[in-house]
Amino acid sequence: MSASELAARQLPLKAASAVGAEPRLQPRYAEVILPIPVPRAYTYLIPPELAPRVVAGARVVVPVLRSRVVGVVAEVDATPPAPTVTVKPILAAPDAEPAITPPLFALGVWINRYYGTPLGLALRALLPGALWSVQRPAGPAEQVERVLALTAALPSLLERERAFKRAPKRRVAYEALEAIGGSAPVRHLVAQLGLSPAALNGLVTQGLARYTDVPRARDPFAGLSSPPPPNLTADQRHVVAGILATPAETPALIQGVTGSGKTLVYLDVLRSVVASGHGAILLVPEIALTPQTVARVRGVFGDQVAVLHSGLSDGERADAWRALRRGERRVAVGPRSAVFAPVQRLGAIVVDEEHESSYKQGTAPRYHARAVALERARLEGARVILGSATPSLETLQLAAAGKVVRFELPDRIGARPLPPVEVIDLRTAERVPGARGVPWTVALDDAVRGALVRGEQVILLLNRRGFATYLQCPACGDVRTCPRCAIALTVHQTPAALRCHYCGHEEPVPTACRVCGKETQRMRGLGTQQLEHFVGLRFPDARIARMDLDTTSTKWAHHRVLERMAQGKIDILLGTQMIAKGLDFPNVTVVGVVDADTGLHLPDFRAAERTFQLVAQVAGRAGRGPKGGRVYVQTRAPDHHAIRAAAVHSVSQFAAAELPLRAAPNPAYPPHVGLARFVASHEDAGRVQRAAERLAAWLVRANGERLSGALSVLGPAPCPIERLKGRWRWHVLVKAAEPRAIGRVVRALGARARGAVIVDRDPVSLL
Ligand code: ADP
Ligand code: ZN
Repeated sequence: MSASELAARQLPLKAASAVGAEPRLQPRYAEVILPIPVPRAYTYLIPPELAPRVVAGARVVVPVLRSRVVGVVAEVDATPPAPTVTVKPILAAPDAEPAITPPLFALGVWINRYYGTPLGLALRALLPGALWSVQRPAGPAEQVERVLALTAALPSLLERERAFKRAPKRRVAYEALEAIGGSAPVRHLVAQLGLSPAALNGLVTQGLARYTDVPRARDPFAGLSSPPPPNLTADQRHVVAGILATPAETPALIQGVTGSGKTLVYLDVLRSVVASGHGAILLVPEIALTPQTVARVRGVFGDQVAVLHSGLSDGERADAWRALRRGERRVAVGPRSAVFAPVQRLGAIVVDEEHESSYKQGTAPRYHARAVALERARLEGARVILGSATPSLETLQLAAAGKVVRFELPDRIGARPLPPVEVIDLRTAERVPGARGVPWTVALDDAVRGALVRGEQVILLLNRRGFATYLQCPACGDVRTCPRCAIALTVHQTPAALRCHYCGHEEPVPTACRVCGKETQRMRGLGTQQLEHFVGLRFPDARIARMDLDTTSTKWAHHRVLERMAQGKIDILLGTQMIAKGLDFPNVTVVGVVDADTGLHLPDFRAAERTFQLVAQVAGRAGRGPKGGRVYVQTRAPDHHAIRAAAVHSVSQFAAAELPLRAAPNPAYPPHVGLARFVASHEDAGRVQRAAERLAAWLVRANGERLSGALSVLGPAPCPIERLKGRWRWHVLVKAAEPRAIGRVVRALGARARGAVIVDRDPVSLL
């Protein structure tokens, strides 16, 4: 480059800085979104020295009243505020690159509009919590690792002799480092190669080497061994080819029976995506994010994988986020919130077990990760692959309408048959002697005993934790309920207490009825603790493990249980829906559903769908190995279509029976119509009722005046759980065939209600 060229290039820069020094420079403003439930942006002044970093999507620290808050820039060069308004300056802009890229910002706006969540709360969900901390706006310090790298070559023997004349140890260090490629972590050199820190320091003082600190991602899964993936079967190859031949904008559904090898199909599709230079996200339900799953993903993508797990510390989560944001890792694996992972050049999002209700977030923004995945993929031109053995009716409907292409894997790997399911009618079947209140039939008892005798493993599902569902006085009928929630207290025995499963309220197990004073209180309804106790008495030699929320509250507890199960150190694994999903243990030959009806009669239009999915999924845990397997489903509703369809592992049979029940002449429900729910709550019962009545009246009026009657408004009515954590609850539902009408009331109430009313679009629970 000639001197004049250089001068020409530098000219604009000089001109700019000259203008920058100008005292009468036009002030510039930015619109900043704060992570609070307020439907507007705030205007701040951009100090010139921060200008290069204050761009759309960047995090900034701004003053708010007397404190400081981390916000996100929505727009720069915003219209200057009225001269009467004093505008404060942005205090800091911690990131060199904007934290939220334009498509992710657009995704935040979509969440804001679709779910009616204030934009600040939508954006808050996009970044790990640590990046919103104003105490440390740069985020938790990255863990760094000291690396020693050679800086000077000593090609001839003579130079070497001279350099290390009186320092043989230093020479050993030099040559060891040279032999492993010229650089290595100091930890490795000292601990593994036995080199002395003094010799390493010597190389540095001699100018032959240099220390640098490089970021090291804290990764709790780092030590996992990663087996190479098996070769695809013809069926799997066929599905992979079909998906890759589908235009990226059309989502794919893999409907594959339990044990059909869906995971390998996802991984192979993602392998092509990554090979073409793109990144990918694999969403799995939290509970399925086991070391086994991670190892399978690692087996294909090695160090390119960032695992986002709820057990990560803030620092670990921030490290993983940064590694993805910088493009150092290309594949993100995680539950719901991983849909926001800052994967660069996103090529695909897989939603495994897409029917899982855990993909729906229970607090604002109340998003569904499947819906967000579809929108994000649209914004970034990525493809979406949904997978399940029991797809949601919503997804089946999209497939039927041709909006999603469906691929089927109708057979298990190795042509293993799906296990036969025996439905046992609890009303008539013979129970074992001494079962008392426990629904334990001779048929299930024989099956369990047989498996134990043969050295095989058993899974028992009971979707109700605790010891007994409630405590009742046999004299007056009083049931102990939570003082804060309208819900019976569950009896727990380890440790002994009455506990509320909604708010956590705890009280001692009473010795007498608080109403009539009768001294013996009766426990009703079987819970997992009691089942464990009962099964332990029945099979005293069996090694039994229980898995439910009470046993798995510590960080890796459920992984440890599954590990022992995999090693054959457990004979009977019993638990709640936690054990129904994704587990792949070939030695499990008997699966028992102790009471299939626990969720069947809940006042929720998805009760049948949930029961079908749960029973079909847990049935799919049996017979995954060469010994085959059998499933026993105990129920009082053997003719219910959910039970019947699950017994033959048939999604289509279930859908054919269930879909008409959600359409006229019955009240319409999703997937035929869209649904939104508005919940008002307050400590004062009268106030909440009046608020709900006003809410319903407003909806009815808006519907008539502005939406030409597109909505049907249901309610107000008390929620099935009338009182929660001391607050009375009422809800109003709206339904419409037309999404736009729902969107309009959702946005209007989301902006107006300011948190007083919960706005839940596409709710997964109506309780
Ligand atoms: P799904 O998720 O469909 O229930 P998985 O992906 O868990 O099924 O696969 C079931 C079992 O089959 C796993 O143990 C898996 O390792 C094995 N498997 C999958 N694909 C193959 C294959 N092509 N060859 C051999 N084993 C396979
Ligand atoms: Zn409670």
